[in-house]
Amino acid sequence: MAKTLARKKSTAKPAQAKKLAQPKKTAAAAKGAGKYVYLFGKKTDGNGTMKPLLGGKGANLAEMCRISLPVPPGFTITTEVCTYYYANKRTYPPVLRGQMDAGVASIEQQTGKTFGDLKNPLLVSVRSGARDSMPGMMDTILNLGLNDQTVEALARKTGNPRFAWDCYRRFVQMYGDVVLGVQKRPDEDHEPFETVIEQLKHERHHQAVEDTRLSVDDLKELVKRFKALIKERAGKQFPDNPWDQLMGAVGAVFGSWMNDRAIVYRRKYNIPTEWGTAVNVQAMVYGNTGDQSGSGVAFTRNPANGVKEFYGEFLINAQGEDVVAGVRTPEPVAELKKQMPKAYAELERIRQTLEKHFKDVQDFEFTIEDGVVYMLQTRNGKRTAMAALKFSMDMYKEKLIDWKTAVLRNPADQLEQLLAPVFDASEVAKAKAIATGLPAGPGAASGQIYLNADRAVTAAEKGQKVLLVRIETSPEDLRGMIAAEGILTARGGVSSHAALVARQMGKVCVCGAAAIEVDYQGRTVKVDKQTFKEGDWMSIDGTAGKVYAGQVKTAPSEIVAGLIHDDEAAKKTEKFKHFQQLMKWCSDASRMVVRTNADTPEQTANAVAFGAVGIGLTRTEHMFFEGDRIDAMREMILAETVEERKAALAKLLPYQREDFAGIFRALKGYPATIRFLDPPLHEFLPHTKEQQAELSKKIGVPAARIHQRVEQLHEFNPMLGFRGCRLGIGYPEISEMQARAVFEAAAQVQKEGIKVRPEIMIPLVAFKKELDLQIEVVHAAARAVQAEQKVKLNYMVGTMIEIPRGALTADEIAQSAEFFSFGTNDLTQTGLGMSRDDSGSFLPHYEELEIVKKNPFATIDASGVGQLVDIAVTKGRATRKDIKLGICGEHGGDPASIHFFEKVKLDYVSCSPYRVPVARLAAAQAALLAKAGD
Ligand code: ADP
Ligand code: MG
Ligand code: MG
Repeated sequence: MAKTLARKKSTAKPAQAKKLAQPKKTAAAAKGAGKYVYLFGKKTDGNGTMKPLLGGKGANLAEMCRISLPVPPGFTITTEVCTYYYANKRTYPPVLRGQMDAGVASIEQQTGKTFGDLKNPLLVSVRSGARDSMPGMMDTILNLGLNDQTVEALARKTGNPRFAWDCYRRFVQMYGDVVLGVQKRPDEDHEPFETVIEQLKHERHHQAVEDTRLSVDDLKELVKRFKALIKERAGKQFPDNPWDQLMGAVGAVFGSWMNDRAIVYRRKYNIPTEWGTAVNVQAMVYGNTGDQSGSGVAFTRNPANGVKEFYGEFLINAQGEDVVAGVRTPEPVAELKKQMPKAYAELERIRQTLEKHFKDVQDFEFTIEDGVVYMLQTRNGKRTAMAALKFSMDMYKEKLIDWKTAVLRNPADQLEQLLAPVFDASEVAKAKAIATGLPAGPGAASGQIYLNADRAVTAAEKGQKVLLVRIETSPEDLRGMIAAEGILTARGGVSSHAALVARQMGKVCVCGAAAIEVDYQGRTVKVDKQTFKEGDWMSIDGTAGKVYAGQVKTAPSEIVAGLIHDDEAAKKTEKFKHFQQLMKWCSDASRMVVRTNADTPEQTANAVAFGAVGIGLTRTEHMFFEGDRIDAMREMILAETVEERKAALAKLLPYQREDFAGIFRALKGYPATIRFLDPPLHEFLPHTKEQQAELSKKIGVPAARIHQRVEQLHEFNPMLGFRGCRLGIGYPEISEMQARAVFEAAAQVQKEGIKVRPEIMIPLVAFKKELDLQIEVVHAAARAVQAEQKVKLNYMVGTMIEIPRGALTADEIAQSAEFFSFGTNDLTQTGLGMSRDDSGSFLPHYEELEIVKKNPFATIDASGVGQLVDIAVTKGRATRKDIKLGICGEHGGDPASIHFFEKVKLDYVSCSPYRVPVARLAAAQAALLAKAGD
């Protein structure tokens, strides 16, 4: 859909408008097209459901007005304008300016101030706001409307020249940066405006004083120098006319939708480009008028660990940007109780109102102007997996939400965080904490330290575990944060950029560890009289906020300890109990069940402990690589006659039997889908001369013959070569041995009193006849073993659907197959004609160009490969009503793909053992959403 952006004027708008939520109530809105400005304040046009049109910020500003929270008045320019802007060479709809005029007039009327006025000037903020919040990606401009005249008016009106000039200084700086593009050059270490400030501080105060200590004169001088800097760098005069300022700022917000940082972020979180951003223009309230004013950010509950406490921070005598920028370290919100008790009580009231109304934890921004609280933003708070779990359970108990909502509140793709290791208790006791900071992202991380994003990325690409250490982070560090195991910062509070992003990405993070001295030039970190160089190890505990020297050993999370290691203490923890409750609800809500891909009894047992109800895929070839087996396997491949091959297979049989028996026992009666030999044989043979010579000595086959056989087996396209059922058809004795091993193991375990349900799966079937030939071999082995052992075995034979021809002829294949399992890895390879192992050279570029939205090997290509699945499901069921249908590719553990599999109504998904909880949650959510959609 990115093409909507490139479309011509005439078609772009209507196409987009149809998709966007249109308000139903007002007559003007019913017409839809043409209304680009939505007011909020005394009169409010929008509401909280209109995020696609108004952006998240705009919709919630409107919603807060509707529930009478104190919001400074303003208006929202819709995302449609953003779409229009890019479709029309960066121009606006002609009617926009008139609607903005009316918007400004409405703000003027509500505030009693006038834009550009020389007595009581109205200042506004210009704020971006996409549908989903994009922290740090878009830039806000505050105090717009100031110039050399209005600043004097503001000073006179408020009797506070310091305040007026502080606003002006900030405005020129932000405008210069965001709109006029005066930013750090690669050869500079600091933002140019910050350099000017530092210089002036040193000239006039001989030290680095806080911004709040700058005098009116200092501020006036700064404005002068800033304007000169802008002139020099941007070659432009700073605009004096408020309307020019406003239109420039609006353009900059729309322009920033396509900046590199925004693009990187959207790619990471799969936010479509065509959504666009809205722009909010809002009357300023001032947190920088003195010590009865301030700005803050708060959560209605703790977003790191989920505890129900008022959580947040504020800065006295500051504007909002200061809090998130991590320039000054803010104070915890609880401090306000002492410093401004009335404002604190008001915030407590707001906190309750927000949760009651939105029924979810809110992350909100506020400003206090001379003791009066104003709300500037609210949104559902980003949270760690741990907090999400606790929020959902607590809010259920508080009757704010029902159990289904509680299930939906846990993000499936984050759930794995709960299974991530923590520091080993005994190791931590021995380790020395060298610094403490704020626990901003729970979990344990050990890594080699790097002080900038690029070097962190490079090290991670080399396979190192990386800890990114920064004084504070900014959006430029995003790539490094993604690459790192954990993030450590010296400055910044719980709502600093580092903390926000870490929470969202599930990264371990300690921020504001003031004791560490980060030296970017020297690439060292000094702390506790020690110096760490880049590449040295450090460890951080993001749950406790502690920093350790060196590498600290980790231990399993309470959930893993309780489920897998049967640790009684772990089972008593709240985290464990909540997790179990969630999993129980998942079972209640799901239609599909979850199986696992496992090749060993241990993996199987783990998966069952996590709630898997069977194996969806056992790759028998994995068993051939262990110990001596590989030699017997190689003998089998090198055999020249059927007899020789049978002799070698006879050596493999007992190994396979034991493996299967172990798996059946671990399954405790659940079914196991066992796939017959699949990969091309050359994968088992040694490829270097030395290895061939060694093997020759070991098994007594001449090296020349080994070499010759390797050559013989060489294929140009092994992925499409002699593999899958083609092997079993070429060498039926291999399938015969495997079938016999399965049935002998089944007989053995069944005699032990354990139910056994083998499901034999023939891979890579494209023709019904292939399957028929293999089924015959399987049935013959089954008959033989049942007769020998005098048992009756309950088994099935089916196939993997992983070739388009197999999917398209599924009706025929289902005549023989009792089940299908979709091998979506191969189905993606063959369906797209794209080798998974070779796609690295072009696929990332494809993702950048949005030719593919997501890596099709990670998330199923629903409209292409998914269609093959859909066809096979329909045709398979048409032939055999009760055919069992599952998926065992990599996609079985991917939440987005699981939603697709729910839509086509598979019976189960199968994934690796540690993904089982994720898949259970995703399957439950998919079922709940499917029901809600009915
Ligand atoms: P972001 O999306 O990066 O959070 P915002 O648009 O929320 O950007 O602006 C950042 C901060 O600027 C807000 O938290 C708030 O403190 C301050 N701010 C924005 N608009 C106003 C306003 N009208 N009056 C006072 N402060 C404002
Ligand atoms: Mg904000
Ligand atoms: Mg396959």
